[in-house]
Amino acid sequence: MTKQYDVIVIGAGPAGMTAALYASRANLKTALLDRGIYGGQMNNTDKIENYPGFSSVQGPDLAKQMYDSTTRFGTDYVYGDVTALTVDEQGIKHVDTDGDEELTAPAVIIATGSEPRKLGVTGEEEYGGRGVSYCAVCDGPFFKDEDVTVIGGGNSAIEEGLYLANLAKNVNVVHRRDSLRAEKILQDQAFKNDKMGFTWNSQVEAIEGDGEQVTAVKVKNKETGQEQELPTKGVFIYVGAVPMSQPFAELGLTDEHGWIATDDAMQTKIPGIFAAGDIRGKRLRQITTAVGDGGIAGQEAFNYIERLQASK
Ligand code: FAD
Ligand code: NAP
Repeated sequence: MTKQYDVIVIGAGPAGMTAALYASRANLKTALLDRGIYGGQMNNTDKIENYPGFSSVQGPDLAKQMYDSTTRFGTDYVYGDVTALTVDEQGIKHVDTDGDEELTAPAVIIATGSEPRKLGVTGEEEYGGRGVSYCAVCDGPFFKDEDVTVIGGGNSAIEEGLYLANLAKNVNVVHRRDSLRAEKILQDQAFKNDKMGFTWNSQVEAIEGDGEQVTAVKVKNKETGQEQELPTKGVFIYVGAVPMSQPFAELGLTDEHGWIATDDAMQTKIPGIFAAGDIRGKRLRQITTAVGDGGIAGQEAFNYIERLQASK
């Protein structure tokens, strides 16, 4: 079955929800598609302290509030894993999902964000869900009063390490350099926290276990070459993000790393296909920048459709 819309927004994170809010409030028939629950990466974080208007808010609560604002104006929330996006000779975009339905529209906004990058070491896959995790909020409570390890030195590693320090006995951050990439305010909080320790200049070589559960991480000091086994029950991996742009690869919208290039109107190189949020090639990936992109993309989709109608 084919369903026709004015605008299809792919991805219901903060970028997609804001894009759908602007499009539906401008009276466009709007579909907001996601393969999971609305909220995107906001569901994987506990405390958000840098979204204006909220001194501190839980990720899933902010997601719910954004969803309620968006659907208030008639956005059609549709479940589906998008597998392909094609453009026909009339410029109509066709969105295929893993379900039976095909969705079509003159304008599409891609807001599919990113997912955690894998470390790629022995034991990571084997012990997935048995000590290895990419989501402290989801799995942290399983490690109450245990020793856990966080891999990475960016905002995610330090913010989620601080969250884990509220639950675990000790949190050891293993980082490949001798200084953190995370913003200063998070660094200050981490260095002050008695439960947080650091293993610097160290690359993880393997995640080890007893066949059932993780027991240790094996690390190698990059300066001395010394190897050591650090006993741990849980390994939380935060080594960056990979763009979720595979369904759009054939359209040639991405750079060599898979991020989508746009102009400042969020327009990709194909007229009527916009991109917003973390999926874009950009410097700062945050909720504020995602919603900013989403607002622009929703409004520009409206302008695009107005121009199309005026030209008929
Ligand atoms: P996402 O939030 O990634 O949403 C993308 C959506 O697209 C997802 O719902 C996904 O299911 C969907 N999707 C992907 N592919 C498909 C497909 N093929 N078909 C259908 N749906 C698809 N930022 C802050 O400002 N403050 C913070 O405190 C903060 N903490 C963070 C903590 C962690 C652990 C992480 C990982 C990130 C944090 N961030 C924070 C960053 C912030 O969450 C992201 O910048 C923001 O969520 C990006 O929004 P987005 O809408 O572009 O993408
Ligand atoms: P990130 O900023 O890319 O940091 C990734 C970290 O992992 C870096 O410290 C990097 O080391 C390390 N790393 C990368 N590959 C590695 C490997 N193979 N082995 C070991 N270490 C490796 O990713 P992120 O922290 O997930 O953040 C993603 C985005 O979300 C960022 O834009 C971030 O600002 C945003 N975010 C914001 C907040 C917030 O605002 N509070 C919270 C979380 C995330 P190097 O430092 O040596 O490169």
